[in-house]
Amino acid sequence: MNSNLNSQEQLIRDVLEKDRCSACGACIGLCPYFTFFEGKVVALDQCSLNVGRCSRFCPHLQPNASLAENEPGRVLERWMTRSPVPGLRKKSQYGGTVTALILLALELDWIQEAVLTGVRQTGEPEGRLCRTRSEVLACAGSKYSGAGTLSVLQPLPETGGALRGVVGTPCQITALDNIRSYGLEQGLFADTVSLKIGLFCTWSLPQGRVRQVLLEKGIRDPVLKYDVPPPPAEEFLIRTRRKQFSVPLAELRSLVPRGCQACGDMTAEAADIAVGSAEGVPGWNTVLIRTERGRNLFREAREKKALQVKPLPEANWEHLRTAVANKKKRARTLVEG
Ligand SMILES: Cc1cc2nc3c(=O)[nH]c(=O)nc-3n(C[C@H](O)[C@H](O)[C@H](O)COP(=O)(O)OP(=O)(O)OC[C@H]3O[C@@H](n4cnc5c(N)ncnc54)[C@H](O)[C@@H]3O)c2cc1C
Ligand code: SF4
Ligand code: SF4
Repeated sequence: MNSNLNSQEQLIRDVLEKDRCSACGACIGLCPYFTFFEGKVVALDQCSLNVGRCSRFCPHLQPNASLAENEPGRVLERWMTRSPVPGLRKKSQYGGTVTALILLALELDWIQEAVLTGVRQTGEPEGRLCRTRSEVLACAGSKYSGAGTLSVLQPLPETGGALRGVVGTPCQITALDNIRSYGLEQGLFADTVSLKIGLFCTWSLPQGRVRQVLLEKGIRDPVLKYDVPPPPAEEFLIRTRRKQFSVPLAELRSLVPRGCQACGDMTAEAADIAVGSAEGVPGWNTVLIRTERGRNLFREAREKKALQVKPLPEANWEHLRTAVANKKKRARTLVEG
């Protein structure tokens, strides 16, 4: 690292120019010099601050510290879950666990707002602050590209404000912790994040590359669902109202940004609750409870029957551990090599 560079120059040189940005959105919003344009972070002007927030927030410059271990981080409990409501499951990616947990947290008034990722009329994903049931339901389903979601967190309130729940990919949850610890350290803003739900994630594509894939496949109708079924499928599914398209993963691998290849956090290790697919059990989720806060919400979800719950089979857990270890090893090879 060149110590003569200021924060903005470092972010541009070491992240943006090296194809490491995963569009988490943490460096946009409070900063007048960066903006999100067509799915990419761009610098509008030169910043004169030596030490700014952008390089402190970026998960690719300040990654999750626990990545040296091959294990999936701190896990208090592990389960398979789904929402008992068929209509909610239908809108959701798999079992609708994330949507059900956010709805419950709002209902209990444990949070008053949720930072989620929806889709614009034009098809691009975007970060949204959601307060109502219909706003939360409108964000269900996975968008396999970075949406700059965390930019909606900003400007952070100087004092108090609504308590927020945040749903995000592992890099977003890491960036969120970077923002919070910087704020607390500097006494700059009140910490209003009271719930972090992380999504399992192996890669995401920049928005422009998803657009490129849709164009190449001649897909013009709005996309209703994207999915990456578990191995050995090796395909990326794109469903529109009329048709389902399958793109071989081999065609996409070269489009995955270097930041995702060098990312070793597959299961959102800094989240309160981490949620992924349940391998071999369609329509269900794998859930890892990581903190007491996560455990309390999960207990409420069981008591209020907001989730159906069954044990995670040992074979699924072992597969997950292997996948996590492999991602960490690949990331270390790239970072160290
Ligand atoms: C980029 C990406 C890659 C993923 N890769 C894997 C994987 O390799 N293995 C695996 O098991 N699971 C993966 N997932 C997680 C999985 O797709 C589901 O999100 C998760 O299992 C929760 O399912 P659900 O039915 O509870 O979701 P839902 O109830 O439908 O809720 C989905 C939530 O995800 C949020 N969301 C959607 N897209 C994004 C986005 N781009 N960025 C941030 N938040 C978003 C929405 O705000 C919504 O709240 C990935 C998700 C994403 C977004
Ligand atoms: S990964 Fe996040 S913080 Fe880093 S440059 Fe991209 S949007 Fe900014
Ligand atoms: S692979 Fe890592 S860097 Fe890429 S989107 Fe997922 S969590 Fe972020």
